[in-house]
Amino acid sequence: MVRENEIRENEVSVTPPEPNDAGLTFIGRISTPWTSRMETPRQGRHDGPVCRIEIYEPWVAALKGVEAFERLEILYWLHRSRRDLVLQSPASNGKVHGTFSLRSPVRPNPIGTSIVKLEGVEGNMLLVRGLDCLDGTPLIDLKPDRTLFKPIAPPQPGDFQTEENAP
Ligand code: SAM
Repeated sequence: MVRENEIRENEVSVTPPEPNDAGLTFIGRISTPWTSRMETPRQGRHDGPVCRIEIYEPWVAALKGVEAFERLEILYWLHRSRRDLVLQSPASNGKVHGTFSLRSPVRPNPIGTSIVKLEGVEGNMLLVRGLDCLDGTPLIDLKPDRTLFKPIAPPQPGDFQTEENAP
């Protein structure tokens, strides 16, 4: 069952330090069909509905070249999540799992990531499939899917380092 903000049997919360959110700047906003966590997919799918990612100024120029990638990695801030659970019960059955062994939205820094299929670019809007976030979710970053990206800058010594030849 999807949580709003309730604590379930055997779950453990802690008092987290005051967040300072590392000075993140939200660079855009995601529009999806979902306004309730009860309806949002647990993980997006590439045959799911088209969602729109709006990029704010002054970051629109940074979209140059993204259209070359069939898939993008999207990072977003799951802004309605609680952030204080260390043990969670996804099935609400009293069986608990450590937060870092889950992809639950409930985490100290509620960052969600999805690999999406890029369907189009319209000015400052990206049309994508494969998201699983609420309408209005703030956007942290986007980058090419790592399996499609070859570094453009020349390699560095560390790129050739293995356990065997490490200095
Ligand atoms: N794909 C991402 C990941 O693996 O990092 C997120 C997965 S998380 C399980 C997706 C769930 O987070 C949704 O089903 C919904 O219940 C919840 N969610 C989505 N958007 C949210 C938001 N803005 N704030 C809080 N919870 C959100």
